[in-house]
Amino acid sequence: MSPQDVFSDLVGQDEPVRILRRAAAAAARVMAGDPDPGGGMTHAWIFTGPPGARRTVAARAFAAALQCERDGTGCGECHGCHTALVGTHADVHVVATEGLSIGVKETRMLVLRAASAPSGSRWQVVIVEDADRLGERASNALLKAIEEPSPRTVFLLCTPSVHPDDIMVTIRSRCRLVSLIQPSAAALGEFLVRRHGMAPEQASWAAAAAQGDVERAQRLTADPESRSRRDEVLGVPRRLTNIGACFEAATKLEAATKQEAAAAVAELDQAERAALERALGAGGTGKGATSAMRGAAGQLKELERSQKARATRAQRDAIDRALQDLVGFYRDVLVTTMRAPVAMVHGDLAAVTSAAAEKWAPESTLRRLEAVLACRDSIDRNVKPQVALEAMMVTLWRG
Ligand SMILES: [Zn+2]
Repeated sequence: MSPQDVFSDLVGQDEPVRILRRAAAAAARVMAGDPDPGGGMTHAWIFTGPPGARRTVAARAFAAALQCERDGTGCGECHGCHTALVGTHADVHVVATEGLSIGVKETRMLVLRAASAPSGSRWQVVIVEDADRLGERASNALLKAIEEPSPRTVFLLCTPSVHPDDIMVTIRSRCRLVSLIQPSAAALGEFLVRRHGMAPEQASWAAAAAQGDVERAQRLTADPESRSRRDEVLGVPRRLTNIGACFEAATKLEAATKQEAAAAVAELDQAERAALERALGAGGTGKGATSAMRGAAGQLKELERSQKARATRAQRDAIDRALQDLVGFYRDVLVTTMRAPVAMVHGDLAAVTSAAAEKWAPESTLRRLEAVLACRDSIDRNVKPQVALEAMMVTLWRG
């Protein structure tokens, strides 16, 4: 196997890569006329994994291996591999959504496409990047397609988990599961050096601080704003010196994550609104345009609602990153107290961590760690972020 084949970007995923290689090789044997090639090849797959484990990258790599013209090895060099990876292969169809849900219309089109024979001689691959955003009707349409597959069609569904909230049980039961894991800091650090030419010291810091999230590690090294947000969050424990400081820290973090989220969605919001207004004929004159605008009000409202929901989701993601950083900090304190022989998450904060380890009893550090986890749970259960953060800050102060 070449070090630069289609699977080489899947950091620290030895087992999933082994499964996918075997299946792709089996798929190539099917192409060669073997009716029973073994190897666990099947027509429907689910890729799960934590944020940053790169489910979509895995699905695209597998799609490339299926289209590989060198016996399904995923050589990374042939025309099939190349076009599948860059997204121009005629028989690899990707459903990606920046929005909150994948509509039934989009899914029906996808299902139709899946039912057609591949234009080349290999496989018709359909990748659904955010299968957890399929609505109920869209899920049903997809289920039907998976239940009655065309002989050369392969579905690759990406979703955070196989929890029924993320994917319909009946879809899950028809798919083979590929569980991606959070790569170790060592594996990620090595990857950042090899693939992104980072200096080893910087790479190992970013890999540890990002706690296995490849994209976050890249942002932490390349984006000063991302770094300063992290500094701000990791400064929180030191600032909690009285009850007033707790509420202040909660308010500040809530506002900062809201701002981060707003910046993340602003451009897309604007583009969507402009596109809808164009479609609705805004800016036109005359009677036709006026009556069209009246019907358009409803559609604009609908768009505003879904954009607001997306902003909420983006803020939750931002809060989750902050809480993840705090989990890392309290875990480091605990590790220092216990003198456990494991690597630190925030190696650059060793002095602060040691000072906290001197001051706090291990039980008290543990209560703080649990408060951060409880805050995540609360926000998952739709408790208002401000309220959940305030409750957390108070426990972080008192211990
Ligand atoms: Zn190839």
